[in-house]
Amino acid sequence: MSSSRKKIALSIGKEVPPTENYMSEPGTEIFGSLVFTDAVQKQYLSKDVYKKLRATTIKGEPLDPSIADQVAQGMKEWALSHGASHYTHWFIPLTGLGAEKHDSFLEYTPDGGAIAEFSGKTLVKGEPDASSFPSGGTRSTFEARGYTAWDPTSSAFIQKEVNGATLTIPTAFVSYTEEALDFKTPLLRSVESLSTQALRLLRLFGNKTAKHVFTNMGPEQEYFLIDRKYYELRPDLIAGGRTLFGAPPYRGQELEDHYFGSIRERILAYMMDLDRELWRLGILSKTRHNEVAPAQFEMAPLYEKSSIAADHNMIVMELMRKVALRHGLVCLLHEKPFAGINGNGKHNNWSMGTDEGENLLEPGNTPHANAQFLAFLVAIISAVDKYAELLRIAISGAGNDHRLGANEAPPAIISIFLGEQLQDIINQLEKGPASSSKSGGTMQLGVSTLPPLPKDATDRNRTSPFAFTGNKFEFRAVGSSAAIYWPNAVLNTIVAESIDRIATKLEKGGGDINKTLATVLQEEIKEHKRVLFNGNGYAADWHAEAQKRGLPNLKTTVDALKAMPKKEYKEVFAKYKVLNEKEYDAREEIMWERYVKVTNIEAGATVDIARNQILPAVLAYQSKLAQTIVATQAVSKTGQKGQITLLDEVAKGASELYEAAEALDGLIESANGGSSLHQIAASFKDSVIPAMLKVREIADWLETVVDDELWPLPKYREMLFQY
Ligand code: ADP
Ligand code: MG
Repeated sequence: MSSSRKKIALSIGKEVPPTENYMSEPGTEIFGSLVFTDAVQKQYLSKDVYKKLRATTIKGEPLDPSIADQVAQGMKEWALSHGASHYTHWFIPLTGLGAEKHDSFLEYTPDGGAIAEFSGKTLVKGEPDASSFPSGGTRSTFEARGYTAWDPTSSAFIQKEVNGATLTIPTAFVSYTEEALDFKTPLLRSVESLSTQALRLLRLFGNKTAKHVFTNMGPEQEYFLIDRKYYELRPDLIAGGRTLFGAPPYRGQELEDHYFGSIRERILAYMMDLDRELWRLGILSKTRHNEVAPAQFEMAPLYEKSSIAADHNMIVMELMRKVALRHGLVCLLHEKPFAGINGNGKHNNWSMGTDEGENLLEPGNTPHANAQFLAFLVAIISAVDKYAELLRIAISGAGNDHRLGANEAPPAIISIFLGEQLQDIINQLEKGPASSSKSGGTMQLGVSTLPPLPKDATDRNRTSPFAFTGNKFEFRAVGSSAAIYWPNAVLNTIVAESIDRIATKLEKGGGDINKTLATVLQEEIKEHKRVLFNGNGYAADWHAEAQKRGLPNLKTTVDALKAMPKKEYKEVFAKYKVLNEKEYDAREEIMWERYVKVTNIEAGATVDIARNQILPAVLAYQSKLAQTIVATQAVSKTGQKGQITLLDEVAKGASELYEAAEALDGLIESANGGSSLHQIAASFKDSVIPAMLKVREIADWLETVVDDELWPLPKYREMLFQY
């Protein structure tokens, strides 16, 4: 072990640092304590203003602009009571990361003093300079004006820092020309469109009272934690969040002992702190456990309305990183931080529900007789089939490319798992009305003292990218670091289109809705059933079968983005007013750009680490071997066949490593010389990435032979097990 690595290994403190006293303040007491909650609003706003604000936040009605001043006043008083000195409009530009600019509340008083002010105008609208955020060509640098617009549906909250606090107001970010420059605006628009269409369908089934349909979302967040001291010695993790080098450890995840294993004290202390930070911000962190890979974990919150869940997930990711540092750990949210073991996903649990609390994806005990449920179900099936490419696009990115299809995450082929019960009903519906539902019954465990268990009507399938799980769909292919506004906006939009079509057919059909429905569902199922697949998504024959069925298999981001300009895709976004053509094209442009930039950074880091860290270590070992052999020859008659072979191999490896790094360097340069973004991206995928892998292959082999003392980079076995 190199001296710096050894020092780290010996200094890792496994004892748990003292943190706050969990017992004295239970979760129920701290929950939402840093949020401008309903109860706080009641306290700080007049009855009238409170009621008007609530009509928007709870019922989704348009905001009455006349209340802004009073809401701002109330928010300020409340924030000051928490010691806040600043406020910020918080938004999600197309970088996919939270953005914030802090302003203090202070204004001059006539006598030269200062007073804390916060007006309705400042609450409602901010004006950050938009020119330095990616805009995908919708903005030039000279057209800098951008606006942040208060999103009253997502509660303001206090960010507590070590030495202060900031009132944080969730906002949407738009340009002077009214184009969305963020990820949230399209999601909010998509929910409205979906609501309009879903209400039409609900009315046809006799629901006269629901006023809004919302989408609900519960994102399960996977992550790694490693000791910060190792992280600091890994320039690849620092630059891009994933290891570009590292021989497979002799122990990985093959013992299957990490998943749900007992949680180390140091990690549990982190999780407890994280939970409490989240609870204070009104984020109901519910589940915590060890994940499949060593040093990998998961947190799942309780589901809530999509746009709020998406905001909350941004905060979750940020706090995961922040709290980790306090514990001497680093949280890795990249989709594939370590080769050879599982990567990180974000299971996006999604459903639709009414403002009256009805879950539209609740099948009940006899789904075959639940016409309304079947109509919504079939609408989703059709949407996922028709727009599979869009869903694939929505989850694309350089990071997720390493994960999709790697037998740990669903394949890049988008298909739906329904399970036995619903598949059976769909099969019936294809022929005509459905007449029965298979039921789960109870399980007898063969031990008289154990209670009989009610059995689900359906088993689970973890290889499916889009699985029905009881009363929701789980979109599993989403990347762990993704800002989930975008995949959900896509999902809502395509489902809105499907529901629209089905509702139109039913309205046109007239007469007995159940009769018309049978015909409509039959048509839809015939056309789209190819997307249904209940088998093993990892199996090679599924890929062949999917191809036969004509399902797209867009393996990489480059393949996915190539499909993006299709006319019908732009049209569906335009028709449901989620993104106009310009906004859509901008997102395409940004996704290409991002792919190229990320890959460029990683390729550059590969060259640098190979040349400046690994090669010198290998040469030092080579020299040590050569000197040893010569010195030994001088005094010993023993043959040194083994040592000489080793020297030869090491020298050969060093030479190959040098050449592979040179070749990679050349390829990066020529890729960047490409004439268009698309061409540059394609060169990165087809020539640069394979060349990076070549460098890695040689370096990883060298890691297994070079003196451990000399190896500069913390090894997998250290990062993944010593924490
Ligand atoms: P699993 O996927 O393992 O069955 P859970 O039932 O705990 O796990 O759900 C995982 C996530 O799905 C949680 O965030 C949960 O709140 C969320 N979820 C549960 N029901 C719904 C629903 N109807 N709509 C959206 N998300 C939901
Ligand atoms: Mg799940």
